[in-house]
Amino acid sequence: LQTRLNVDAPYQEFHRLAQAFNAMLDRLQKVFEGQRRFVDHAAHEMQTPLTVLQGNIEVVLQKARTAEEYREALLNNWEEVQRLVSLTRSLLTLARLSGDHSLVQPAPLALEPLLRELVDELAVLADDHKLRLTLQADPVPSIQGDPRWLKQAVINLLHNALRYTEPGGRVTVRLGIRESQVCITVEDTGQGIEPDQLPHLFERFYRTDRARARDSGGTGLGLPIVKEIIEAHGGRITVESQVGTGSVFTLWLPIPKS
Ligand code: ADP
Repeated sequence: LQTRLNVDAPYQEFHRLAQAFNAMLDRLQKVFEGQRRFVDHAAHEMQTPLTVLQGNIEVVLQKARTAEEYREALLNNWEEVQRLVSLTRSLLTLARLSGDHSLVQPAPLALEPLLRELVDELAVLADDHKLRLTLQADPVPSIQGDPRWLKQAVINLLHNALRYTEPGGRVTVRLGIRESQVCITVEDTGQGIEPDQLPHLFERFYRTDRARARDSGGTGLGLPIVKEIIEAHGGRITVESQVGTGSVFTLWLPIPKS
């Protein structure tokens, strides 16, 4: 649409404009439809914990209780509140990021200290899950990255690796260069993912049947958030997995031209 109109060939120009206009309408329609499905799904996901909370509170209010019973009822509700907090936090992050990649503000960033800090921070959680969490870092150049968002991306991958790996397993974070790009990989020896489910992992609210069966408390928004963050850095995310062996998630980040 930016090119100037050719007034000597008005019919072809009109045709060209009409085609561009229709293509734009189709794109808009897809975006609106995607937004509608997203809101619908989000409301549905919030309804489940809210209904459980409502039921629990009604039961407690039906008769007088001892302090101990009140305490137990509050504890039962705590899990649902946690689920709602984590869901709304993820929804807000995703809504902010997908509308506006300018929230990510890249600056020269050394990845090894950032990853080391993360692995140290999650050591206690890994211990709780009886998993060995380690970092193997090769020297890599600084990249253009926003530490706050990249940290969030790796935390999401690590939380998944810890959540979907059985006690006694290993989670390894690697930093290195492959195909002229900086790669951060998060590798686990966990339950793995069926091949037919791999293409859907980055869809909003998608959770594999295994994850649903375990009711591991996830939201299905962690990986879509990672994808947004990495794309805002001009990079991409890939995954390889084998059921029973484990999964490898790789963040590919461009090396800045010097
Ligand atoms: P969730 O909050 O459910 O973990 P994500 O978007 O982070 O949502 O992940 C989507 C789904 O991908 C998960 O529900 C799980 O089924 C699968 N998944 C993600 N990471 C792993 C992993 N390391 N091992 C096995 N399955 C995984």
